[in-house]
Order: sequence, then structure tokens, then C-alpha cells
Amino acid sequence: MRDLSALPKVHLHVHLESTIRPGTLKELAAVHGVQVPDRPAAFDGFRAFADRNSLTRSCLREAADFERIAREFCADEAAQGTRYVEVTFTAASHGERVGDLELPLESVLKGLSEGGKEHGLHWRLILDHSRRRSVDRAEKTLELATRHEEVIAIGMAGEEKHSLAPFREVLVRAREAGLHLVHHAGEDAGPESIREALGIGGAERIGHGIRILEDPELTARTAESGIALEVCPSSNVTLGLVPSLPEHPLPRLVEAGLKVTLNTDVPDVTGTTITDEFTRAREVFGYADEALAQLARNAVDASFAPEETKALLRKEVEGWLKSAAGV
Ligand SMILES: [Zn+2]
Repeated sequence: MRDLSALPKVHLHVHLESTIRPGTLKELAAVHGVQVPDRPAAFDGFRAFADRNSLTRSCLREAADFERIAREFCADEAAQGTRYVEVTFTAASHGERVGDLELPLESVLKGLSEGGKEHGLHWRLILDHSRRRSVDRAEKTLELATRHEEVIAIGMAGEEKHSLAPFREVLVRAREAGLHLVHHAGEDAGPESIREALGIGGAERIGHGIRILEDPELTARTAESGIALEVCPSSNVTLGLVPSLPEHPLPRLVEAGLKVTLNTDVPDVTGTTITDEFTRAREVFGYADEALAQLARNAVDASFAPEETKALLRKEVEGWLKSAAGV
């Protein structure tokens, strides 16, 4: 068995606001006078999780706060062997909250740019929008995304019971502007949410998608198309969507021929790193190094990285497989 922290990784589904170091959160909360209780071990439903999220986000107020969490994120990801990340950030929501639409995004871009250089981490940004929020805010998200070339995609997140239909026009314009589309679906809602994300949502990847197996036809079609699923096992268990890790559908998704990638989603909620997710796949599902490397390769393929970056990353994964085992 090889050292999984050394496996070169591509991380496709992680929310920047959920990567704040506990010490940093404490400091920011104190500075801004916010009471943030310690992280609970589990959440009683999606709303409890969303409320916790709002509290964390309210600790981010000034340019320096956003820059800091982005820089620290780069250091922490690089330490886990992540080589390329497509990190998600809810830019317009923060912009509206702090009364300056551009400030949070520009500060995060600065932090990622500096941190990425310092730690050798390649990165791109995805701007997400909660489905239960207004079309007007989605328009602002699109506007922000088109102003910065480092933003490569837009994604619809939040409770999947809210339809994507009101956002159809915004998504069409996003695609016309050259942005990629990646939506959360099939996490708490059933396969119909995945059909919608792939249909009117135009999704090129599915965030989660773990409920796809309830629909064999959709499963076969998605496997055939090669559209990747951003699977986040620990997140699913902590948020109560799957009873336990051994019961997680990850192995069945792989066996169904789907392009499965491994991600953390909400590290501050799960307490896991991307290396932990690979370690759990090894320990719980008995995956050998070749199978783990295949999950890493899938993420390279499913990323929106330039072809030369993908070629480099594939070589690095092969290099890891050729390295001496012995952990
Ligand atoms: Zn997510």
C-alpha cells in the first residue's frame, strides 16, 4: 500500500467557506463578535446544516478575511497532495451581505493566486448559487463569473426540491459566455433532480448524484456519456443522507460503470481531508492502489483543467503507482 497523502489529487467538489481552519474561524468570530459553537458531530437534517453554514459565512466580512481563508486553503490542500482544485465559492451571496458585490470574489481570487503560487497548487473557481435564492442573485453570480477568467463554471446548489426551471435563462447565457455548468443533484432528491440537472441545467458534471442508482436507465445513460459524479462519502454520512460509510453506494456507482470522483464537499462539517476520503475508500471498501489511482484519474478527466495540465497530472498519478509500496 502506498502513501495516500502522496497520491496526486484533483479535488472537484469543495466549498471554500467550509474549509476555514477551526483556529481561523475562532479568530474571525471573535473579531466580528459572532458566537460560533463547536462543530456538532452530526446534523439534524439539511436545514440544521444550512444554519451552521450561514453562521460560518457571517464571520467573513472584510477583504483580509476572504484573502486569508483562500491562502490557507491552498496551503492545506497542497499538504494533502492536491495538485489541482476547482473550488466553489458563493460570491454573490457574500457580496450582497457585505454591501460590495465584487469585494469577496476579488479578495478570494487574490488569496488563491498568492497561495497557489506559494504552494504549487493549480486552481480554478466555480461560483455557486442556492436554488432557493432569487433569479436576480443568480444573474449577479453570472455577471461576476464572466468578469474573471479564473472562474470557469457556475453551479446550482442548495436544497434540490427547488427546481432549476426559474434559472434556465441564466444557465443558457452562462453557457453562451463560455462557462461550464456543474450542479448539485441526486444528493437529497431522487433521480428526477439528476435528469433536470442534465436536461434544462445542462450539467457537465453532477455534484453528488448518489441517488442515480434508483433509475437504471439514467444510470446506464450517464455511464455511457462519461459525465462524472462528484461523490462525497463522508459528507453524505455526516449530513444523514446515507446511514453509514459501509452502506455508502460508492462501490455500486463504480461497478455501474459511472465515472466516480472522490471529494470532501464540506470539510469543516465532516472533519475530513481529501486524503482521508481516499483512506476511507481503502479501509471501508477494500480498494487497492490501482482502484484508488483510477478515482484520481477520473477526477483529472472530469476537470476543466487545460489539456497540458491534465497530461501532467496523469503522469504524476502513474508516477505514484510506480513508486515503491510499503505504508
Ligand atoms: Zn456541495
